[in-house]
Amino acid sequence: MMMLMANGEGEIGLPAAVAALQGGASALTAVERGIGVVEADPSIHSVGRGGIPNLLGEVECDAAIMNGRTLQVGVVGALQGYLNAISVARQVMERLPHAVLAGDGARRFAAEIGARKADMVTEEARAFHRQWLEKHLSDERLAAWPEGPLAEYAWITAKSVMAKGTTIYLALDEQGRMAGGTSTSGWAGKYPGRLGDSPIIGAGLYVDERYGACGCTHTGEMTIRLSTAHAVVQSMKHGATVEEACRDAAQEIVDLKEGFLGPVAIHAIDAKGNAHAVSTRDLGEKIKYCVWFEGTSQPECRRTPAL
Ligand code: ASP
Repeated sequence: MMMLMANGEGEIGLPAAVAALQGGASALTAVERGIGVVEADPSIHSVGRGGIPNLLGEVECDAAIMNGRTLQVGVVGALQGYLNAISVARQVMERLPHAVLAGDGARRFAAEIGARKADMVTEEARAFHRQWLEKHLSDERLAAWPEGPLAEYAWITAKSVMAKGTTIYLALDEQGRMAGGTSTSGWAGKYPGRLGDSPIIGAGLYVDERYGACGCTHTGEMTIRLSTAHAVVQSMKHGATVEEACRDAAQEIVDLKEGFLGPVAIHAIDAKGNAHAVSTRDLGEKIKYCVWFEGTSQPECRRTPAL
């Protein structure tokens, strides 16, 4: 049975992803199409064009895609200047002997395959970044910017409520193939080169169609420590329901007491297409996930419950 799960950020891409599945496309293509719509929408400030920049004012995008049948993966990290990081990630998987490309190499590969270039920093994002600098930097640092150490500013962004978020898609197609994808511009105001969990297979994304798929959002630093997405899929392999697997992984995050701590939302489907999501703490009304099943006209969106 065909189905799709996306988190709230991914909602606007669902019609394109559903149409792809209904038209007979693979789960991989549905994931790429759905995420591609979100990446191109400048009103979504956590993904793709319009994302909130890093400390230097650059939008660095991370994306991953995973084929749940073959366990092949394609990943890009800190990619600048290209509209659809998810499509570049898919091409890494399909055209290279590698799984992950980052930074300048990812950009070079995107150019080589003719990926769509774009000015990823919108006027709105530029203004936001400028205002942030003016608020947090001394006149002296501002005049010399970006010379000097940046670490203290990364800590300021850690404490603020600047935009965070990732687009997650998990899909099952007509032929029973499962795929998943993630895309994000990452932690707003991050230290340049910082990768979150979205481009770390096993942390922010894992798909094995024999058991299920999982994608995570919010504080990537947490799921990287616990390989959360892989842990959820492994729990299902060992007999947990999708809900038990999500809750157990969320509890592991809550149990961490040392180091930088932040909330996480976990999204998963099992091999039959049952879906569940949970957040490690109440992230407010806006945090939701959407599920579409074959034979229904509309995806159904629900608030993501807290553990
Ligand atoms: N998980 C993403 C990251 O760590 C960001 C997010 O979803 O808020 O980059």
